[in-house]
Amino acid sequence: MSDEVVLRASDLKKHYTLPGSLYAKPATVKALDGVSFELSRKQTLAVVGESGCGKSTLARVVTMIEDPTAGSLQISGEDLADGNKNVRRKLRPKVQMVFQNPYGSLNPRQKIGSALEEPLMMNTPLAKAERGDKARAMMQAVGLRPEHYDRYPHMFSGGQRQRIAIARALMLDPDILVLDEPVSALDVSIQAQVLNLLGELQDKLQLAYLFISHDLSVVKHIADEVMVMYLGKPVEQAARQVLFDDPRHPYTQALLSATPVPDPGRHKERVLLKGELPSPIDPPTGCAFHPRCPVVFDRCAAETPLLQPARAAQVSCHLMDEAE
Ligand code: SF4
Repeated sequence: MSDEVVLRASDLKKHYTLPGSLYAKPATVKALDGVSFELSRKQTLAVVGESGCGKSTLARVVTMIEDPTAGSLQISGEDLADGNKNVRRKLRPKVQMVFQNPYGSLNPRQKIGSALEEPLMMNTPLAKAERGDKARAMMQAVGLRPEHYDRYPHMFSGGQRQRIAIARALMLDPDILVLDEPVSALDVSIQAQVLNLLGELQDKLQLAYLFISHDLSVVKHIADEVMVMYLGKPVEQAARQVLFDDPRHPYTQALLSATPVPDPGRHKERVLLKGELPSPIDPPTGCAFHPRCPVVFDRCAAETPLLQPARAAQVSCHLMDEAE
């Protein structure tokens, strides 16, 4: 059961059309442009990249907040493309999201017990006593005490609030958690506690995690697989160790060079990227990374590289052809 694929995306796209005006033509923003991956139970896929790379759009499509423009998405074995409203209603509890700011995702006037019971009240026929039992059991599973049931969100620390948000996301017994920067608002010591909790819950409940982050030191701690995204497309996908030991794409190399090394005796040469992420309304021709790439060459501006196998990874860079 643990290797059962619970999330399968094939060539997933999300494009937005911007209406034209007196001064500008209509434009298409390709926020997500051809993302494919599989995610099994007890597996964590980390999605990394700068803000604007498409990772939050991916989260919104996977959690069914938005429909994809093209491509297919299977959740717990069911295809969303065929999904009528009933299929979507059935699948929605299977994918739950945990946000970066737990305080923003909790109603300040609602006691924790009631916040945990709310998803059960809206989606299940459970009676009040059963809902209360389940909420208390989930509080225990995430390390909260029984007396916390009647407290309000402001009475908790940041780490405790994130535990509450995780508990709430688990109330409907999902298969998949989409974790959108779940520890980046927390102190480093608290981050480790929440990451350990996520690891324990994953093992116990056989959960699959789609872990969205810009922090590669956190990703190194939790991911099984890593997908690096740039302007809506994956540029490198690999198992965690492969990616951290031997990053192939120049963008991945630049991101990793900015990650602190725990050993003070070791120094890494920092690869500095030129400029900002280009506008997705008018992306560069050829390889979208070429205006910032430290090893750009003639072919890069003219031809778009495809994601293809390169040793143990999938990489989208013309240098991989040159290395063959
Ligand atoms: Fe750099 Fe060219 Fe590779 Fe793009 S295709 S990452 S510009 S070397």
